[in-house]
Amino acid sequence: MLFDLTAKEPQSEMIQMKTPLVEIDGDEMTRVMWGMIKEKLLLPYIDLKTEYYDLALEHRNETEDQITIDAAEAIKKHGVGVKCATITPNAARVKEYNLKQQWKSPNGTIRAILDGTIFRKPIMVRNIKPAVRNWKKPIILGRHAYGDVYENVEYRVKEPGKAEILFTYNNGEEVRHTIHEFSKPGIVQSIHNLDASISCFAEACFAYALDQRVDLWFSTKDTISKTYDTNFRAIFEQVYEEKYKDKFENAGITYFYTLIDDAAARIIRSEGGMLWALKNYDGDVMSDMLASAYGSLAMMTSVLVSPHGYFEFESAHGTVQKHYQKYLRGEPTSTNPVALIFAWSGALRKRGELDGTPELVIFADKLEAAVIMTIEEGIMTGDLAKLAEPPAKRVVYTEEFINEVAERLALSH
Ligand code: NAP
Ligand code: MG
Repeated sequence: MLFDLTAKEPQSEMIQMKTPLVEIDGDEMTRVMWGMIKEKLLLPYIDLKTEYYDLALEHRNETEDQITIDAAEAIKKHGVGVKCATITPNAARVKEYNLKQQWKSPNGTIRAILDGTIFRKPIMVRNIKPAVRNWKKPIILGRHAYGDVYENVEYRVKEPGKAEILFTYNNGEEVRHTIHEFSKPGIVQSIHNLDASISCFAEACFAYALDQRVDLWFSTKDTISKTYDTNFRAIFEQVYEEKYKDKFENAGITYFYTLIDDAAARIIRSEGGMLWALKNYDGDVMSDMLASAYGSLAMMTSVLVSPHGYFEFESAHGTVQKHYQKYLRGEPTSTNPVALIFAWSGALRKRGELDGTPELVIFADKLEAAVIMTIEEGIMTGDLAKLAEPPAKRVVYTEEFINEVAERLALSH
């Protein structure tokens, strides 16, 4: 128990903040929930100081996406941001919103400016059991977000011929390697990565493991990829030896490298409780596997951590468009606000830690405890009701769920 429900002190003063949070508003159903969370869970207790950036798609379009860049720069200035889910426009959205162009993914833009790594962690409650029985603690996943197959160059070989890697130095010197002599049709692909980006990824992982006091696992296939993956492994080892070895030992945590197939087998047999750092593609696949094995994307926290000490908290899920269409028709929806509430609590806690304002940290703990208590008492949104064991006592709409959390939060003040 994180707080004492029997302590009936008079309503205390509003919690003050020293530094503003960068508040990045978004789209559709998550924007609707954002407003409810602020009104019912935060504003009654905190003299909320935020610097507000409206990333609603209409506003990104009006500002030619400058607002997204401004929001990322603001996080660099203040250190901590909290972000609502945003639409990444596709062709259908360009038409729907009459956009000047198909603006880039805001998450991609912000990530590129902050140079970050994304960490995802399941929110565990007693009545939603992980699909893997022995997982008792959350497995946090850290995914490198640059290069590899996401920026590949591919070629379809139709006729016999020779595929080569050709690297031309700026001084004109050339290095060639034969990939394959094709006697029949086939395919070729090339990928790349950068030492600087891998170092940033390693830094972010070591810093996050230290912050969360958990072991760090890193895995690649360096026995097969003797240059590419070995480079990742070597950079991780260098960063560890030079900057984190002592800190890890003092914190009682370990850095563990193993082959990805060995790691996959060990993770399934483990009880969880580690940070698992993975290259871009491995992280993409494994994060979806972990999210569904732990229950739901709405029960997942997501934070972008930069090696320069900036943090951006968000939900792992999108704008829940289908629920928003119902909402627009005036129908209540049972959309799960937990990931968004935890984005706020995570950001407020980090702000409190950085500013030396323990009241903010305590508030974040109480808010999260109130959410978990609500679900564990059997009151939950429809997505969780499908998984709950024992079955839910009451399946509620979003606003009712937030009201129930607000009642429990009020009891803790
Ligand atoms: P989504 O918003 O994550 O929703 C996909 C489905 O997952 C929903 O239809 C819903 O299933 C379920 N779901 C997700 N979050 C839920 C919640 N909080 N409570 C209950 N159910 C939830 O993904 P999408 O529909 O593919 O994308 C919608 C928009 O979000 C897109 O425009 C995309 O660009 C954007 N997006 C943004 C982010 C981000 O900003 N971080 C991330 C991903 C996608 P049911 O319909 O079965 O109830
Ligand atoms: Mg994926």
